[in-house]
Amino acid sequence: MRTVIVGAGLIGLTTAQALAERGEEVLVLEAREGVGLETSFANGGMLTPSMPEPWNGPGVFGHLLTSLFNPHAAMKLRLGAVPSLMTWGIGFIRNSSTRRYLSASLNNYRMSCYSIQKTLDISRRLELSYDLSEQGTLCIFKDPGQMEERRILCKYLEDYGLSAEELDAEQVIAREPALGPIRNRLIGGIWLPDDARGDAHLFCRELESVIVAEGGEIRTGTSVSGIATKGGKVCGVEIGNELLEAERVVIAAGSHSPALLATAGQSLAVKPAKGYSITFDGSSLDRLPDVAIGDDALHAVITTFGKRLRVVGTAEFTGFDKSLTKERIDNLFHVLDTVLPEQSAVLDRSQASAWAGLRPMSNDGKPFIGVSAVGGLFVNTGHGALGWTMAMGSANLLADQMCGTVAEIDGKPFDARR
Ligand SMILES: Cc1cc2nc3c(=O)[nH]c(=O)nc-3n(C[C@H](O)[C@H](O)[C@H](O)COP(=O)(O)OP(=O)(O)OC[C@H]3O[C@@H](n4cnc5c(N)ncnc54)[C@H](O)[C@@H]3O)c2cc1C
Repeated sequence: MRTVIVGAGLIGLTTAQALAERGEEVLVLEAREGVGLETSFANGGMLTPSMPEPWNGPGVFGHLLTSLFNPHAAMKLRLGAVPSLMTWGIGFIRNSSTRRYLSASLNNYRMSCYSIQKTLDISRRLELSYDLSEQGTLCIFKDPGQMEERRILCKYLEDYGLSAEELDAEQVIAREPALGPIRNRLIGGIWLPDDARGDAHLFCRELESVIVAEGGEIRTGTSVSGIATKGGKVCGVEIGNELLEAERVVIAAGSHSPALLATAGQSLAVKPAKGYSITFDGSSLDRLPDVAIGDDALHAVITTFGKRLRVVGTAEFTGFDKSLTKERIDNLFHVLDTVLPEQSAVLDRSQASAWAGLRPMSNDGKPFIGVSAVGGLFVNTGHGALGWTMAMGSANLLADQMCGTVAEIDGKPFDARR
């Protein structure tokens, strides 16, 4: 039985690979001219089971309200986007209670641990090349309140297997000497050794070859306009006036998934949360950081992929607009100035590649994985800020569900019909 997968980002491609590996026939349809060119293109590349928390933690409502008037807020709500966020937003706020926040964090943590293992397994088995580094993440802090927040979450997750080590400022510098110039501003850090990182777009390109080698097909430049159903079951997808028949369809179209699902009468609580990155060629630098550096106060991370240095961060609710806003890009330059002033002074800003992508954000902080209310129509989306971290795990969970095999992880928290 052929499965059509809509979307060739991290989620669609990992789904196709997991199905192909199980002997299933797969056809991936992608609107763009290549794979991984949307949100999976220049993201942070962090594989971080250590940071599984949804963004709608306790206090998010106040933060969003004040962000309306602050162009530099780490998470920013634009007034123009408010009408399109009403129903979704009520759920976003409702799910920000401490109990729901911790529950979502734990479910995402379990999925992320499973997923990173699957990612590392396939990378070793097939010798995939995407600048993978298994060094951990170093969270740095200048503010005791911020450090306490991260400490509380780490302590909670330690009971479920997270490794986290608290460091004083000297130990932070010993772990990452590139932070030496800001020693006096740091109060400490938390070292998260089990995280990894790698270039998500290169991974997509590698998976493309794997899927084709396993007998699958990927059609780029093909935009799906709707889902065709008959008698409560899916019967294919529409591409303009053409019907492409299929008994099973997986929607993995990122932030565009709700619009496609609506054509089959299905709704999904996913909205785009825009984020930015700037990438430098760091080959002229004497010293690049070995570890990924996270700064919770700035809601940002600095990562390296080989000789490339990337600064990533900020979230903006502004609909589907992907334009590069100067003040948001300036925020990232500010992160670089603040965290790595020596490198910042040397790097040529005019050579930085700036990028923006739309995180597909669910309103309860967890992805939607599984069958919809329409027979044969499956969903794999809503991974928000953790789509790279959770891609391989989500794909394997869905593939097991579709093939009727026992899944290695509990799928209930991610049920697409919740
Ligand atoms: C700034 C930023 C930093 C991030 N950093 C990290 C990180 O460090 N770690 C992490 O785990 N996650 C990170 N993320 C999140 C991660 O990038 C996303 O969760 C992930 O890329 C989502 O993948 P996806 O396949 O669902 O969506 P996409 O990559 O957007 O793929 C969806 C695909 O569907 C296609 N499509 C849409 N509609 C149609 C249609 N009608 N017909 C055919 N094709 C269609 C699109 O063209 C697209 O290629 C970050 C995101 C951003 C924006």
